[in-house]
Amino acid sequence: MLQHAKKLVCLLLALVMVFAMSATVFAAQEGPLTGGSITINDAVPNQTYDAYQILYLESYDAAANAYAYKANSVWKTWLETQTAFVSFDEQGYVTWVEGADAAAFPARRTGNAVRTVKLCAGTRTKSGKTRRLQPDRDLRPRFQYIDTLKYDVFSCPHCGYSALARDFDNIIPARAKLIREQISSKFTPQEEPEADFYTYDMAIARYKLALLNTTVKKGKESEKAYTCLKLAWILRGKADTLSEDIPEEKEAKKKCQEEEEVFYQQAYEGFSKAISEEMYPICGMDENTMDYLLACMSYHFEKYEMASKCLARVLTSSNASRRLKDMALELKEDIVAQLKH
Ligand SMILES: [Zn+2]
Repeated sequence: MLQHAKKLVCLLLALVMVFAMSATVFAAQEGPLTGGSITINDAVPNQTYDAYQILYLESYDAAANAYAYKANSVWKTWLETQTAFVSFDEQGYVTWVEGADAAAFPARRTGNAVRTVKLCAGTRTKSGKTRRLQPDRDLRPRFQYIDTLKYDVFSCPHCGYSALARDFDNIIPARAKLIREQISSKFTPQEEPEADFYTYDMAIARYKLALLNTTVKKGKESEKAYTCLKLAWILRGKADTLSEDIPEEKEAKKKCQEEEEVFYQQAYEGFSKAISEEMYPICGMDENTMDYLLACMSYHFEKYEMASKCLARVLTSSNASRRLKDMALELKEDIVAQLKH
């Protein structure tokens, strides 16, 4: 399902690409949406058109006819290479190169690596390469321009089988049977997304479905806990994109944070149980990493005694990395500070 035709619509300076694809729209939107519309002339009947936001209107003064555009982060790296058409200033504002032909503006192909899953004939997509940033204290991974956590969960649009990427292919027949009976039989097949990036809401829905799958298939405590943790992290990622200054976003941000808290709590309880029942590595984590993670989570829930216990194990461990010990020491200082209050 590659693009059969492409059309370009130029709205003022905003470039909106319209690809003809038989899939629904999964465009990552940035900046506030304040109305507006796109008209497609000579549209092909029964063809679905996807619109991708490449630039967003950051601010404008209609009276002065001044419009300031910035690149959607998903497209920025690519757009910066299109110097014949657009130029960036130091603040990241984008202007159209004078005299450049909008009709010649190239469309980026969205190449997807697709793999077949074992449970049914469905497919899943793999994420691409990105640059890693400093993770959160509790090890939530962070990357430039993209939240890779969105791609750490796979969900089959045909049968509803969903799992963390790392567990997706490892399902034993007995568990597959439970999923077929209790999920697939009731699942309404969905149109398969062709986009190579997902919205937060899509990812959140997939994690929730994955969590339901872990329960139905009677998965390991640690798998449930890790799914909850990633769900909490992705909710944090979504909250990060919402502004305190815009009333509707502030409300949505608060909801995200409340939900994050619920799943974080479940993750905490699950991991606390898992360490006494399961063998390391647990969810790919060695004992030191798990102890450090549990210390962070204990600290979050103000269980300082538990946090100190976990940290002591990391700090006295003979095989914990220097880096992990440094992080543990930093956390220990914060715990000491809290206890002095
Ligand atoms: Zn399937």
